[in-house]
Amino acid sequence: MGSIRDYFGNITSALGTTAKGMSVTLRHFTSEPPITVMYPHETKPVPPTYRGMHILEQEKCIDCHLCAKACPVDCIEIEAEHHGRKLEWEKFSIDYKKCIFCEFCIPPCPVDCIHMTSEYEMATDSNDDMVEDLLTWTGLRPEDQAALDGKPTAVQAKKQQESKKGGADKAAQIAAIKARLKKGS
Ligand code: SF4
Ligand code: SF4
Repeated sequence: MGSIRDYFGNITSALGTTAKGMSVTLRHFTSEPPITVMYPHETKPVPPTYRGMHILEQEKCIDCHLCAKACPVDCIEIEAEHHGRKLEWEKFSIDYKKCIFCEFCIPPCPVDCIHMTSEYEMATDSNDDMVEDLLTWTGLRPEDQAALDGKPTAVQAKKQQESKKGGADKAAQIAAIKARLKKGS
């Protein structure tokens, strides 16, 4: 008799435990917002301190090579001909196969013309495509471009409307990116 009671007791206990687990699942399923980001159609905001691909303000660069000399993996190549004070640029490239995103190349620049952006999408199936010429690279992320232009992107503006706090956070992020891009700090 005792074993029959144990048998049905175990079944009741198992059903109760399953129902309890499913209620937690159901509660999260119905009340929590989805956390999946549908990359690449959606992306998460990049922290302002993120060290991504470089941009060069070519018109300010004086071809001093201090950035290249500071690079611990020797991945910056610069070629320019000097015609008096005028520079004829041939190459300012970074080999992203070697770059370790250490940011050592930024502080030595005497004219603050090389910066790190929040761009990280550089996946490719070609080694050659991993060498980026900063004289022609225009792949700035919308948020970095907007930061340089001093205005939020459409997505940022929408998020700012949706959440006052979120908007304040985003504005702070934009300000930080702008400061970083402009000062290279
Ligand atoms: S981030 Fe570091 S490794 Fe990359 S180019 Fe600059 S100094 Fe070199
Ligand atoms: S340190 Fe600055 S100015 Fe000198 S070559 Fe590099 S980017 Fe140009």
